[in-house]
Amino acid sequence: MTGLGPYPLEALGSAGVRDAVARWLWLVAADAELASYLIGVDRVRLAGHLALILTVALGGPAGDIARPAVGAWRGLGLTEEQHRRVVDYLAGVLWALDVPAGAVDAARRAFADEAGAWSTTLATSWSTNLATSWSTTLRYARAAADDFWCAVEERCPGRLPEREAAVFLAALGRLASGGDDPAGRAALLAVLGHAYRRHRLLPHQAAVEAALTATVARHAPGTPELAAAWAVAARRASAAVTPAVARAGGGPAWWPAEVIDHDRPADGVAILTVRPWRRLPFRPGQAVPVCTPRWPGRWRWYSPANAPRPDGTVELHVRAVGAVSRALVHAVRPGDPLWLGPPHDVGLGLDPASRADLLLVAGGTGLAPLRALVEQVAAAPAGRRVTLVVGARTFTDLYDAISLDKLQCAHDWLTLVPAFSHDPLAGAGERGDALTVALDHYRPGQEVHLCGPPPMLAGSRLRLLAAGVPADRIHLPTGPVA
Ligand SMILES: Cc1cc2nc3c(=O)[nH]c(=O)nc-3n(C[C@H](O)[C@H](O)[C@H](O)COP(=O)(O)OP(=O)(O)OC[C@H]3O[C@@H](n4cnc5c(N)ncnc54)[C@H](O)[C@@H]3O)c2cc1C
Repeated sequence: MTGLGPYPLEALGSAGVRDAVARWLWLVAADAELASYLIGVDRVRLAGHLALILTVALGGPAGDIARPAVGAWRGLGLTEEQHRRVVDYLAGVLWALDVPAGAVDAARRAFADEAGAWSTTLATSWSTNLATSWSTTLRYARAAADDFWCAVEERCPGRLPEREAAVFLAALGRLASGGDDPAGRAALLAVLGHAYRRHRLLPHQAAVEAALTATVARHAPGTPELAAAWAVAARRASAAVTPAVARAGGGPAWWPAEVIDHDRPADGVAILTVRPWRRLPFRPGQAVPVCTPRWPGRWRWYSPANAPRPDGTVELHVRAVGAVSRALVHAVRPGDPLWLGPPHDVGLGLDPASRADLLLVAGGTGLAPLRALVEQVAAAPAGRRVTLVVGARTFTDLYDAISLDKLQCAHDWLTLVPAFSHDPLAGAGERGDALTVALDHYRPGQEVHLCGPPPMLAGSRLRLLAAGVPADRIHLPTGPVA
């Protein structure tokens, strides 16, 4: 076999195809994220369908499935990325069975195209319908929360407190209807994982699913297909929450808080001072899911810019990027309520065992967690020297200059270095992106913590390694895991 020509199907045989499909399905079911898509799916039928497509891809007879009406996988509503992973699993199985490269490619292509645009359209319209009916439900948020709570209470009395129902429903409905990026989804799962654990709802998932679908059906009635889609979406949301419950620690799922100060120190940036009703137990460098009632159910991560304070207040730095952050920057006012979720480590915290000097490199509002680290060191300096490089486009974008100035005046172990990427008036040594300027200040032995917008983070590990920073001294934010 050359690995390029048509694959003699008889080498694998129909039993071999069935075996390949069984192994493939096993791998998909073992993938925590993909497994939820198989819930409620008739796997025997799916396996038959996959085996037929695979047979054709490997050169067997087309039968009546040469162009299936709905792609076997795509019909399940997988995202592009998830679908690619599914196809990668098949390729892995075929490699393991010594199927030659050309035939593996043919199989990949067959499943990558599965019914092409039509099935993509179907999946998209399915999720659009969920999103649309969910926004309709949210128009009656108060009544929907009451209905949802009554439905849960009827099936498992005494579990979900009535006052928590609105926030809980908003998060669950958002998770089920989709639409968040991985970080937003992780925030939802962090919050819901804690809520299910705190209210001991895990054994009652079916009741919660039924309450959600009944609530949507009441406030956004649609076709039987839409009702069925909601039932599947609710089941998937439950399946996604289950591992998050196992990961959740004790404590509340959210802390009601009040905005007590709101400042807009630079274009498109706000500094919010927030007072939780009860103390939020966070550590410097962690991130916290935040939700405003202006966008119920949309939880976003923000990093406190301070070390824990005696009065319990938390300072958030927000850059207006999308809907939630724009509301926090442009619409929220002192006196407004917010919810703060459970704090999470995101790889930026200080190693309690280390007394090494620090090089902190901030871009934009990535300053927030790094300023919190400076405040942490200020509480117990222990001879540590800290260099904080603060990146901004121009001088006027240096939004936190006053606090930074105060910190520098108060602590002789702290060196502040501004880095201006687009300021023609910047002096030598201050001109360039934050990492370029920071590398001039790197001294062996320092721990390097870096936080900033995605373009700044991309490639930064490689640049630090190339500059001689040991891998175990590089601390970059990792994606939060619920
Ligand atoms: C661990 C962690 C900590 C974070 N801490 C902060 C913080 O302290 N302050 C802060 O302002 N934001 C922070 N973010 C980003 C924040 O969580 C939201 O993603 C951001 O506010 C956009 O949310 P949105 O709903 O307004 O827009 P969305 O509708 O969710 O996003 C709109 C678009 O903006 C992109 N985007 C998201 N964040 C950024 C960014 N920082 N720069 C450029 N594009 C972006 C998204 O990918 C999307 O394409 C943090 C994110 C994570 C994962």
